Amino acid sequence: MKAFNGNGMIPIYPVIKDYISIDYPDMLRFCLTNPYISSVDAGAKYSKEFELDMQVACGKKYSDQELNEIKKEADKVAGHMKNICRECMHCQEKFTCPNGVDFPKILSLYNHYTFSVRQNKDTSELVKKYAQLKKNGGDCLECGECLPWCEYKLNIPELLKQAHKALG
Ligand code: SF4
Ligand code: SF4
Repeated sequence: MKAFNGNGMIPIYPVIKDYISIDYPDMLRFCLTNPYISSVDAGAKYSKEFELDMQVACGKKYSDQELNEIKKEADKVAGHMKNICRECMHCQEKFTCPNGVDFPKILSLYNHYTFSVRQNKDTSELVKKYAQLKKNGGDCLECGECLPWCEYKLNIPELLKQAHKALG
């Protein structure tokens, strides 16, 4: 599985980073500490990224204590990740909504909105961006064709409805 976005965190990371102190090297080290993982597709694009990958890969693995600490840190955000689009874009590799609804984009805006509300942050930019979409959550026909393509088994039509209620 692709754990990263090139040599960086997946797009959802900026949304959750205010909750946790975990960064890219931590994540890579975490993956490499797992004895059941023999290789990680880190996807370096530039030599600097490759160097960072190598630095982590050649460095120490986490001790059991460090592993527990990082798991505790990850738990801070785990509860908020239910029904959240990971913005992995894997659905888009083989599927496009026949009705032209850019559902990953809408779900991404909705993620940012949900986390911003939790942190009492301004959401006006997100509402503005939502208003600029050619098709929004309200245009979903609830045909369900996108459902088999989401790796996280999200109820996409339902989330689009919620997004439209919040941002529309
Ligand atoms: S349920 Fe909505 S988003 Fe999914 S394929 Fe159908 S119209 Fe597109
Ligand atoms: S809808 Fe599912 S597969 Fe598509 S980007 Fe979101 S989490 Fe990934």
